[in-house]
Amino acid sequence: MEKRNTKQKQGVMEVLQSNDVALSADEILEQLSTKANRVTVYRILERFEKEGLVHKVIGLEGKSYYASCGEHCDEHDHQDMHAHFQCKKCKTLECVDVEIVRPRISQHHVDEVQVLLSGYCQNCKGEIG
Ligand SMILES: [Zn+2]
Ligand SMILES: [Zn+2]
Ligand SMILES: [Zn+2]
Repeated sequence: MEKRNTKQKQGVMEVLQSNDVALSADEILEQLSTKANRVTVYRILERFEKEGLVHKVIGLEGKSYYASCGEHCDEHDHQDMHAHFQCKKCKTLECVDVEIVRPRISQHHVDEVQVLLSGYCQNCKGEIG
């Protein structure tokens, strides 16, 4: 059981690392070579998020997407202060290299900033003219 779980974890990580866009749990399941069910994949992703290996992004339709983290994230803090872009047509969601400045609000502590940009990606841009 434990051993199989390790294999599944490796599989999920491999899928995430071989894609340069963020993936939903369903997309990860599709690309996974090891057999796993949705619940397991979600559990693994949750674990990875806690460990600072992946960050979750909520897409346009409220769906969760996961992308692997940069070297600055660890189990104490995520440092993914960049924007995300989702294409309205093909729904591809990607990390974009636009740094987001964490705003300061008096008497509050902001530790997460989500900026979701949307429009049309390179592939879909041409089709809308
Ligand atoms: Zn992170
Ligand atoms: Zn697109
Ligand atoms: Zn990201």
